[in-house]
Amino acid sequence: METLSHTIELPSKIHHFPTHHNLGNSVLGTPIGYFTVGHGSKQILIMSGLHGDEFEAQILLDAIFRELITTQHFARYFESWTIAILPVANPDGAHLRQRWNANLVDLNRNFPTKDWNPAPLKPRYTPGPAPASEPETKNIITLIKGHRPILVLDIHSFQTSAVLPCLPSKNRFPCDGDLLDHLIKRLAHNLHVPIGDEVLGYETAGGKHTWCQEQGIPEITLEVKRNINHQEIVERYLGPTILFLDDFLHA
Ligand SMILES: [Zn+2]
Repeated sequence: METLSHTIELPSKIHHFPTHHNLGNSVLGTPIGYFTVGHGSKQILIMSGLHGDEFEAQILLDAIFRELITTQHFARYFESWTIAILPVANPDGAHLRQRWNANLVDLNRNFPTKDWNPAPLKPRYTPGPAPASEPETKNIITLIKGHRPILVLDIHSFQTSAVLPCLPSKNRFPCDGDLLDHLIKRLAHNLHVPIGDEVLGYETAGGKHTWCQEQGIPEITLEVKRNINHQEIVERYLGPTILFLDDFLHA
């Protein structure tokens, strides 16, 4: 195993060597790195670790990343696509094994959306002192504004597994909305999980998904089931997620 960054270990046999980029630092000064694979003009962002204690999400992202760089299969897309991978958006939270960043802000309530609210809806959903007050939030905004991905896939974990699409209105879609709808339904079907926000059962003011939607970028949050082991995560989630990516990049 070769280590390119403290955030992820790369396997020794790589077909497509990813490029490592520094995005910025966390509150505690930890560098936040991301990778790109491919060199096409169309971009997609796959990320995890916005909530530091959702380790199941980081395991799935790691498995997806390996699939992208160690198999020949995806090579066909690397002329027209660039795939950006942000493995750990909140490294301090991961290190401290907590949802929040080191300032105890829930980064997924800290985005500068129209619905950002200084009062947390529940004590654990701390939005921070101001929209985008946190360096980790600013880093993600810089990444998304720089790459302008056609789609953001954000992997989390939750007690209930679900696919949560947050899509701009159809006329602002940078990609075919009907096709994306179809692929989202197929992803949820293959994962045997429901689609939709009602699964969470709470409001998410200042969420990254809402911010992406306001930027005209479709966002899909995939909630991996909490407290399942590495093997079960890979067995249940990797195949359907790879199929989704394959279909999306192929379209
Ligand atoms: Zn989460």
